[in-house]
Amino acid sequence: MYFDSHAHYDDESFDEDRDELLSGMPQKGVDFIINAAADMASCYKGIELADKYPFIYCSIGVHPHEVKDLEEKHIEELRTLVKRDKVVAIGEIGLDYYYDLSPRDDQRKWFKKQLELAKEFDLPVIIHSREASQETFDLVIESGVKEGVIHCFSGSKELAKEYVKRGFYIGIGGSLTFKNAKKTVEVVEEIPIQNILIETDCPYLTPIPFRGKRNDSSYLSYIAQKIAEIKGTDILTVSNITCQSAARLFRI
Ligand SMILES: [Zn+2]
Repeated sequence: MYFDSHAHYDDESFDEDRDELLSGMPQKGVDFIINAAADMASCYKGIELADKYPFIYCSIGVHPHEVKDLEEKHIEELRTLVKRDKVVAIGEIGLDYYYDLSPRDDQRKWFKKQLELAKEFDLPVIIHSREASQETFDLVIESGVKEGVIHCFSGSKELAKEYVKRGFYIGIGGSLTFKNAKKTVEVVEEIPIQNILIETDCPYLTPIPFRGKRNDSSYLSYIAQKIAEIKGTDILTVSNITCQSAARLFRI
C-alpha cells in the first residue's frame, strides 16, 4: 500500500502514455496519488486527472518559479477551484532562492497570499523551499497555517524537528537514495516515522537504481526501502505508516 504524496502527472513527459501508466498503478500497489499543481494550467489538469481516477487527488496553487506572472484575479480563480471535489491542499507554494526564477519580493508576496487562502479554506499546504529554509519556516508559522508537508525536504535536521514539533510532515523522495544524501538521511534518523510522507515528485528525482530515467509512483518502494533501513524496520511498516499519515493530512 503506497501513497505518493507529491506527483506531477500533468507534466508533458507523460503525454505519450499517461492513461496506460496511471490505470496500472493500483496493480503496482499504489493506492493514492496527490497531483501537485505548479501553475494555473496544472491546477485544471490536476482536477481533470482527479475526476478521472478514483485514487488521484490534487492540490491547487502556484510554484515560486511561476509566481512572477500572477495577478490578483488568479487568486480569485483559485478561490473558485478550491471548492472542487478532490482538491485536498494548497500547493506547491513556497520560496526558491536557488533558481530565483521569480523576483524574491514576488515570491514572498504570493506565498503569503496562498498561505492565507489555505487558512481561509482550512486546507493543508504543500510547501516547496530551496535555499530559503528559515524564511519559509517563518512565513508558514506567521500565517497561522497548522497543517502541511514540506515537500522534498532539504533543510537541516534541527529545522525538520521544529516543523514536526508543530505537527507538520516532512516529504522524503528519491534524493534519499542518492550518494550525497547525508543531510536527508540525518533528517530521517531524527524525526518520528509518523511524520514522514513519501513522494516521487515525478517525473523528477528518480531514485537509484533508475536515476536518470523518468520517475513514476511505482518507484516509491525504493524510497520506502531506504527509510526502512535507516529506521531499522521493514518496508511494509514504512509503506503502511506513511500511507496512514498522508491520508490523515489530506483527509482522505
Ligand atoms: Zn513538485
